[in-house]
Amino acid sequence: MGSESVGKEHHTAAGGFRNPWPSYGKRPSFLSTMKFFMFEMDRSAVSEEVKQRLGAPLKTNLDALANPPVGALQATWVGHATFLLQFDKLNVLTDPIWSDRCSPSTIVGPKRFMPVPFPIKDLPPVDVVIISHNHYDHLDEATVRALGNKPLYLVPLGIKSWFTSLGITNVVELDWWQEHQFSAPDGDNSKTLRAVCTPCQHFSGRGILDRDKTLWCSWVLESPSKKVYFGGDTGFCSVTKDSDHPGGDVATRETISYSKKEDLPVCPSFAEIGKRFGPFDLACLPIGAYSPRHFMSSIHCSPEDAVAIHIAVNAKRSIGMHWGTFKLTDEAILEPPLRVEKVWFLNLSDFMNIILASRCVNINMQNVSKFLHIFYDNYNGTKYCPLSKEFAT
Ligand SMILES: [Zn+2]
Repeated sequence: MGSESVGKEHHTAAGGFRNPWPSYGKRPSFLSTMKFFMFEMDRSAVSEEVKQRLGAPLKTNLDALANPPVGALQATWVGHATFLLQFDKLNVLTDPIWSDRCSPSTIVGPKRFMPVPFPIKDLPPVDVVIISHNHYDHLDEATVRALGNKPLYLVPLGIKSWFTSLGITNVVELDWWQEHQFSAPDGDNSKTLRAVCTPCQHFSGRGILDRDKTLWCSWVLESPSKKVYFGGDTGFCSVTKDSDHPGGDVATRETISYSKKEDLPVCPSFAEIGKRFGPFDLACLPIGAYSPRHFMSSIHCSPEDAVAIHIAVNAKRSIGMHWGTFKLTDEAILEPPLRVEKVWFLNLSDFMNIILASRCVNINMQNVSKFLHIFYDNYNGTKYCPLSKEFAT
């Protein structure tokens, strides 16, 4: 390999991108992908029982969004991979989607079963928007149009032209391991952010002709006092045999099953990210859209994979995302957080799952005792310790 291609193993000669690791395995063929989406995918509607257990989003405490606590990190889950992250005077939005469907169409395609907790107009002024890749559930045209040109958009290679076509020009495009230093346009020197575009194992495309033409990534965000890792959409290893799925859309602690422990190669990037940038105060990690495993594992991690990534990147605390919003795959809707809970037997305080959108999570490392439990407010009627009363409104 010539020296010019060192560090560019993820670039292809044709100008596209690839996952340069054995952990990606063999990608499913175009035919098997079509077969899955056309004939095999579980398209059953979300049952009333599940809807009831999930409950409605809590009423958002807009005051908390407008006045985030000083010195702490406040994360608000808007659903799927959308978080409002507030720290060191910064307001950062991740993979924002406020639309009803994640689809090229407003009539067909996966429809949101958990409503957004507040309208987009109620957001505080957003400084930076980070985008992990161009799939419809992570890059939503109506949402980007509504956010407009004021925030700085940080995107992986190849996506800038999509923004330009919408008239959005405040965009910086980065390759893996490249970084951008954000400073506040109003000259506030205390408001700075270092953002690093980091690898993950996924793919891209918005139509049938643009597969893997643009890059996918995760993000490291570093402010003067906080460090956050946003995992985007990612696989971790590649499972060839189907090893789990109990069926039905309601999982119980008894019926959930696990990925078999197999000696599989794992994506090496997470340990590298942990080594270069860890520890992180918070990691937002995907825990859903993994079943059937043999089909999804190369591009979407299981809850167990997410816990492995939590450890690899050296996160002090993680929140599960990419579940409970759109039905994209076959696993039971309520299964992902249960599996995190089961696998995370060592220390329940480190991996949190939020079942209700709009719950603010106030991460204050000086006062960790507040955040000691994974909680499922509505699950089986069990009340776990709420994270932070002042934000649980
Ligand atoms: Zn995706």
